[in-house]
Amino acid sequence: MNILERYHAMEYGPAPEARNEADAWLASRDFAKALFIDGAWKAAANGKTFDTSEPSSGKLLAKISDAGAADIDAAVTAAAKALPKWSATSGYQRAKVLYAIGRAMQRHQRLFAVLESIDNGKPIRESRDIDVPLAIRHFIHHAGWAQTLEKDFPDHKPVGVVGQVIPWNFPLLMLAWKIAPALAAGCTVVLKPAEFTPLTAILFAEICERAGVPKGVVNIVQGGPEAGAAIVNHPGVQKIAFTGSSEVGKIIRKATAGSGKKLSLELGGKSAFVVFEDADLDSAVEGLVDGIWFNQGQVCCAGSRLLVQEGIAEAFIAKVKVRMSRLRVGSPLDKNTDIGPLVDRTQLDRVRGLIAEGAKQGAVCWQPDAALPTTGYYHLPTLATSVAPANILAQEEVFGPVLATMSFRNTEEAIELANNTRYGLAASVWSENINLALHVAPQLKAGVVWVNGTNMFDAACGFGGYRESGFGREGGREGMFEYLAAKLPVGPAIKPTAASSAQPVEQADGASIDRTAKLFIGGKQVRPDGNYSLAVATAKGKLAGEAGLGNRKDIRDAVSAARACKAWPDATTFNRSQVLYYFAENLSGRADEFAARLVELTGVTAKAAREEVDLSIERLFLYAGLTDKFEGRVHQPPARVVTLALHEPVGVVGIVAPDNQPLLGFVSLVAPALAMGNTVVAVPSERYPLLATDLYQVIEYSDIPAGAINIVTGRSAELAGVLAKHDDVDGLWVFADAETCAKAEADSIGNLKRVWTGNGRSLDWTSSEAAGEALLRRAIEVKNVWVPYGD
Ligand code: NAD
Repeated sequence: MNILERYHAMEYGPAPEARNEADAWLASRDFAKALFIDGAWKAAANGKTFDTSEPSSGKLLAKISDAGAADIDAAVTAAAKALPKWSATSGYQRAKVLYAIGRAMQRHQRLFAVLESIDNGKPIRESRDIDVPLAIRHFIHHAGWAQTLEKDFPDHKPVGVVGQVIPWNFPLLMLAWKIAPALAAGCTVVLKPAEFTPLTAILFAEICERAGVPKGVVNIVQGGPEAGAAIVNHPGVQKIAFTGSSEVGKIIRKATAGSGKKLSLELGGKSAFVVFEDADLDSAVEGLVDGIWFNQGQVCCAGSRLLVQEGIAEAFIAKVKVRMSRLRVGSPLDKNTDIGPLVDRTQLDRVRGLIAEGAKQGAVCWQPDAALPTTGYYHLPTLATSVAPANILAQEEVFGPVLATMSFRNTEEAIELANNTRYGLAASVWSENINLALHVAPQLKAGVVWVNGTNMFDAACGFGGYRESGFGREGGREGMFEYLAAKLPVGPAIKPTAASSAQPVEQADGASIDRTAKLFIGGKQVRPDGNYSLAVATAKGKLAGEAGLGNRKDIRDAVSAARACKAWPDATTFNRSQVLYYFAENLSGRADEFAARLVELTGVTAKAAREEVDLSIERLFLYAGLTDKFEGRVHQPPARVVTLALHEPVGVVGIVAPDNQPLLGFVSLVAPALAMGNTVVAVPSERYPLLATDLYQVIEYSDIPAGAINIVTGRSAELAGVLAKHDDVDGLWVFADAETCAKAEADSIGNLKRVWTGNGRSLDWTSSEAAGEALLRRAIEVKNVWVPYGD
């Protein structure tokens, strides 16, 4: 054997991490009292426990108290009691507590890492070098936000008591992503870890005791779906932050509909890993190993769909197979292990089932020739080729070490394939041509895009999804908004439609020419599909005119027109800004006419009407001006990388406008949506639709491209329902009665569109607080594009 042969024949010896500290900690604790409520350790009121076991052996680790509804109630009560004092504590004081948590975690860093690997099965290299350091960084980073809160987030207050439910794949890290921003914002929390991985949260609660976190500020309860649901449904909670599957996310969206609870959902994914032919293939292979086999593929943003350009596909797959053969599957506590066991037998069975189904549907599944440990829930890394885009392995989140591969011919096809999923969490783009990568990144429907890299995270950079991957961001400035409530000026309660529409309408007095306003779809005035109209009364109860009674079909046409309009989202911000200025200019040219219309329809004084028109023009001016100013940011995480936090339009936004201040309310909602490049389907005030239909005459000669704004008049509640259920609507803003608002939220679960409602109240549109960034923030998605630099 020569030296080279000897080198290649060399094997790693075992390098086990010591576990005696972790075992001693396990032995020292009474896990039958594992609920940390109001600063004390409690057993479940009903005395129940559940088992947590070690994925590498299946052995029982502990029997943990299983919280019931009474325990959740006690935890929420404790959090509510602690809230006034904690939210009034100075930012500096809160910063010191967050910093103390971070420092105490640092002192127990190794114990956290070993416990996490024992309980979850993740390789110690990952828990030691990634999960735990990132969790610590989160607390220390957020100490700063606590201190600068009032200056950085004026017009905001802490949202209140927060219920947080997290999954098992990154138990400590997800806890940090939830608790650190909540405490920084002045909220108090009730957090429930996943039932497979309760341990590091218990150690964390001990840290809170030592770090001077006041009693009741952090409450950690244990249990499964029932405990989670009890938190979600508790009336004492003002915000739910959930990380987990899209399926449960939808249940939670529905359960919280109409409750007024703020909600953020970090859900599943099926992220694309796109390799162009000019990529550095060896780096891309290493990236792929990280992308899909990190944490056994149990990663929400796992690069589980490899899209590789045709010309290099064969060579690339060959390299991937060689690399897969070298992945070491084994004990999570061995420092050489690349792939540990899956978290539980149920997860192993699920992964096997999906592979079998994928193979049945035509995929060819390949695994390296390696032996698995004889105990535990191990699974070999798996590569699926010949995967059709509709194959279950290309569409479903496997949440295991399984990579589905497809090839593409050109850039357009790569983008189309990458976006061919109901999810939108993350994507990786590999190309040595940075122009190409930055051309592709904005076109990917994903909240995070890594250029020539994968799975990069930092406390200063937002993380979160588009589409069915959920909404809201975690991390940095973006993440702080999730725990703050904007102080919006509350307007009048909105009565249900039936009450407001039952106006007696007398015949017109013949003074004006009878008019029937049409709908405005795709830049044209069109008759409503049903050929019915809605009588509109003047303030004196006379017939002012008729407006089209739009129906489901009209909304469908309007959504298609909005989706087809590329000219508006693709326009430069300066271009959009000029068009909005021109819109304002043209409205001002007809100010007298609109003021007279307001007097006639609503009965306000001439002075008040003129003020409403003038303020509407001012609003258009404001958003025209902000179009090119409400920009993204550049983050500088602690690595050789910049993160571009880009502001992108949400997409097609449905807007159901209120009756109060009908012109100003309509303009105040439509203008910010347009300013950020969204296309809009607007349902104007049901009672005063003629103001909006008069407005489309102005829109027609204001250079707004066809389809950018569509107006469908009719019954607000019915049309809001159609918009809520439409899966090609990305966002929905509803200012209607409480029932319509609640229904819109519940009906939005098809595609998890972003819904903003007034919960049955309108806003006072005359207030300057009903304009500006608070609304613009709802009109955008933040996409974080990570771009590494250096040779
Ligand atoms: P899961 O949805 O089954 O469970 C998540 C948590 O919700 C657990 O704590 C569970 O006890 C609780 N729960 C279950 N049913 C509930 C209900 N009806 N009401 C309230 N709580 C309930 O998900 P999982 O299997 O634990 O985790 C895997 C999923 O998490 C994957 O889909 C993954 O993509 C996702 N995930 C997403 C992110 C992200 O940031 N987007 C991060 C990590 C994991």
